[in-house]
Amino acid sequence: KEIIDAPILIVGSGYGGAVSALRLCESGKKVVMLEMGLNWQKSGIPFSNMLKPGKSAAWLKKKTIAPFMNIFSLTPFTGTLDRMDFEHINIWVGRGVGGGSLVNGGMAVTPKKSYFKEIFPDLDTEKFYNIYFPLVHKELKVNVIGEQFLKDCPYYKFTRVGEAEAHKAGFKTIRVPNVYDFQYMEKEYRNEVPRSAFNTEVIYGNNHGKNSLDKTYLKKALETGNLEILDLHCVEHIKLNDDKTYTLQVQQTDISGGVVTDKVFNCKKLILAAGTMGTLKLLLHSNVVNNFPIHKQIGKNWGNNGNFMTGRNWVKPLSGGTGAKQSTIPVGGIDNWDDKEHPFFTEIAPLPMGMDVATALYLLINRVDKKGEVSYDRNAKKIILNWDQSNTFKMRENAGYFIKKMNRANGGTRSHFLFNNGFGANVCYHPLGGCVLGKVTDEYGKLKDHENLYVLDGSLIPGTIGVNPFVTITAIAEYCIENLIRQNEFS
Ligand code: FAD
Repeated sequence: KEIIDAPILIVGSGYGGAVSALRLCESGKKVVMLEMGLNWQKSGIPFSNMLKPGKSAAWLKKKTIAPFMNIFSLTPFTGTLDRMDFEHINIWVGRGVGGGSLVNGGMAVTPKKSYFKEIFPDLDTEKFYNIYFPLVHKELKVNVIGEQFLKDCPYYKFTRVGEAEAHKAGFKTIRVPNVYDFQYMEKEYRNEVPRSAFNTEVIYGNNHGKNSLDKTYLKKALETGNLEILDLHCVEHIKLNDDKTYTLQVQQTDISGGVVTDKVFNCKKLILAAGTMGTLKLLLHSNVVNNFPIHKQIGKNWGNNGNFMTGRNWVKPLSGGTGAKQSTIPVGGIDNWDDKEHPFFTEIAPLPMGMDVATALYLLINRVDKKGEVSYDRNAKKIILNWDQSNTFKMRENAGYFIKKMNRANGGTRSHFLFNNGFGANVCYHPLGGCVLGKVTDEYGKLKDHENLYVLDGSLIPGTIGVNPFVTITAIAEYCIENLIRQNEFS
């Protein structure tokens, strides 16, 4: 086995990993980042779109794994989108250098101040809204669609119809910022540049337009000369050594998932940023195989960020439906958060199927009043999730209320075309929690019971943040790593 020594190791190249890498590299530290997915930029392999799913469409699967309409066969490849299936919930995650930023819709939403305060009572809210959120907006290149373009562009009919219907039903709508470059989008509309958002590219990667992490944080970190990213390197488990350093068992694979070689990495400082599910899996698995010390609250306070998908069909397409051509980048939302009885936020989501299916798709984000728990099944040797209908009961009620109110005002039925009963309670894009900041870690993400281990990803957020989460994950990572560096944790 090849044995490699690296002073600072980061596992995972999503938001938490990318922020940590940049700030450590800027402070002059040498960093090695291990990522199980492919470095797409370096490979030169293009991403596939939703209508012609190819190599990038799924992580080692024989068929596509989108939330619905999986009629496409695939040759297994280390693609960008993975799905982890549990008894009552399916969790989608991104794989590849850039993590979730490769597959996500780019919606860059700052949480409501009051909810942020409720979820993180010990953090300095003003500091987050004055410093960390603006910093993250700048680094992630967040921008907003031009209103005139939105009004005129045929690819945004689904948003215009969605907003008009929401207003008719008495709901408030909001404009949603995004990391997709809207200047680029206007050019692609005019056919001046290759099309991406208007070419059904999104959950299997965007070839153009989207400022994913490989174009922002990771690019800047690489430019320092201090970062080495090893892709197709999957960490299997971790051991704590007597001298408080760590040893990681790692498998290097090829692009079809076959093991090329087993490696051992030794490090003094370890940052876990493998995403909520990845980090929990590593900690719980390592605990079983290596007696790795873990805090008793690990896995607790897990939530789906209130994700609940639903849709509506019109019997008679209203105002000609939502459009045959649709941009893949959502720019509108319905904000019902201040309704005491039915608080939710919902994305007016695109459904770019190449024809007008007279269907509106919504991803609701609700409060998570009953949290779940991730634990390890020793017999099955895998993580399990304590989560069922009782956790999503209130979310279902909100979705039912929303759909009924929309249909009463605008016509239409709950979409059985998309989901059984019209409700996708099992769809989760936003797994959060399990290593909650200040509970399982200290106030800056250092794991309790450890001296040299830090968790910096979505698992720090206790199961809910009320909006799409990557802006918050990035801001919390900025806050933690700034303070960890200031405390000389890495010198
Ligand atoms: P991730 O971004 O998940 O990164 C973790 C990385 O670690 C991955 O690259 C993974 O391959 C790697 N990894 C895991 N285990 C190992 C291991 N053992 N060894 C080596 N590497 C490992 N959020 C929004 O805010 N706006 C949106 O519009 C939005 N849309 C979404 C759409 C989809 C389809 C999905 C799936 C998610 C969406 N999200 C969205 C959620 C968002 O992408 C995630 O919340 C975010 O990526 C989580 O960041 P993270 O840093 O916790 O980890």
